[in-house]
Amino acid sequence: MTALDHTHAASARSWLVSAQEAGGDFPIQNLPLAVLRRRASQSTMHGATAIGDQALNLAQLAATGLLQGPAQAACKACAGPALNEFMALGPEAWRALRHGLFALLAEGAPASVQAQVRECLMPLGEAEYGLPAQIGDYTDFYTSIHHAVNVGRLIFPDKPLTDNFQWLPIAYHGRASSLRVGQEGFGFHRPMGQAMPAGAKAPVYSACARLDFELEMGFFIGPGNTLGEPIALAQAERHILGMVLLNDWSARDHQFWEMAPLGPFLGKNFCTTISPWIVTMDALAPYRVPFDRPASDPRPLPYLDDALHRASGGVDVRLEALLDTPAHRSQGQTPSRLAATSFRHQYWTPAQMLAQHTVGGCNLQPGDLIGTGTVSGPTAHEAGALVELSLGGRQPVTLANTGEQRAFLHDGDTVILRGWCEKPGHARIGFGECRGTVLPARG
Ligand code: CA
Repeated sequence: MTALDHTHAASARSWLVSAQEAGGDFPIQNLPLAVLRRRASQSTMHGATAIGDQALNLAQLAATGLLQGPAQAACKACAGPALNEFMALGPEAWRALRHGLFALLAEGAPASVQAQVRECLMPLGEAEYGLPAQIGDYTDFYTSIHHAVNVGRLIFPDKPLTDNFQWLPIAYHGRASSLRVGQEGFGFHRPMGQAMPAGAKAPVYSACARLDFELEMGFFIGPGNTLGEPIALAQAERHILGMVLLNDWSARDHQFWEMAPLGPFLGKNFCTTISPWIVTMDALAPYRVPFDRPASDPRPLPYLDDALHRASGGVDVRLEALLDTPAHRSQGQTPSRLAATSFRHQYWTPAQMLAQHTVGGCNLQPGDLIGTGTVSGPTAHEAGALVELSLGGRQPVTLANTGEQRAFLHDGDTVILRGWCEKPGHARIGFGECRGTVLPARG
């Protein structure tokens, strides 16, 4: 795992005043990466980092020549409309860029440097985001034991957990083409499909009646591996650039009818959204936590277990899911919170997911996206999907700010995911938001 250095010091400050704003997501300790352009412009998408309330254009920065050596080479690799080339460079190059950006943005940078960097800034509020990489493959895991038990209980009350869950991180291959950035103004149409109503003898073709969200995280693959050559657990994080928030929108009625025996298909493939900013594993280093499970549970097999991983394989990312409905907007209410939890409760870590993904020789490529599965914590209000919060729709959730009820999502509803890390003695860093709005079905 990454060692802490001067870029993690809580005392570090930027000459850009908004970087020090209390509760802000993007202090100088974060330096996340995205692809964006000025909204409503025809200009080409380019790589950027965020500092305070500004985006720093890395294509423009590379052209100034302010960075040198490996940092400049890494910055140039972020100049285009996808970060795959940068991702392929690996952790030394990623760290060189982080250190280079930190030096330019830190208090004490020469006034002439500050002036040139200011020329490369644009308010975050003016940004329109693209996917940060050309994503060749997308895999979604299923690694929260609380989620697995909550959902399993709805179908198999006596034996909610499958025999394999505690032995390996389960996953399915998802669909890369329908991945989108969950940014302001993004919406998708409620999917049509086939469902088998309770007690019916034949399925119906209809708009999804049980549309749900899933509060997840995702991580982007850096350097890939050669077909046939697994990535060992101890090396796994060298292949992970960083993490995003991910919403695996789910059509439960379609999903539960179609998924036996081969798993999710149309119930999951109509849209998946991610937050625009990748928070790097370097930035997450102060918030690592032990990877632990109860002593009564099976120990992972040796290829999924080692001492360093047990000491710091987890990450304490605080997560919350909020719902904004048309009634919230007309009444001037802020979004109601549906759930709050932490990524630290997952039963398997990103490193274990990567080791499992490649153990049979499957090759990963720079820019591949891996979903972690729904993040649900140990208590009822920590469940990361409506199917859990409403007990399969039987007990609708009451929204705190309007008193409305929801078993599943209505047209016009906007789901907002937020994530951040905080810990005494360290700066607070955030992921921003991942949001999306449900539009009516195209009958
Ligand atoms: Ca999922």
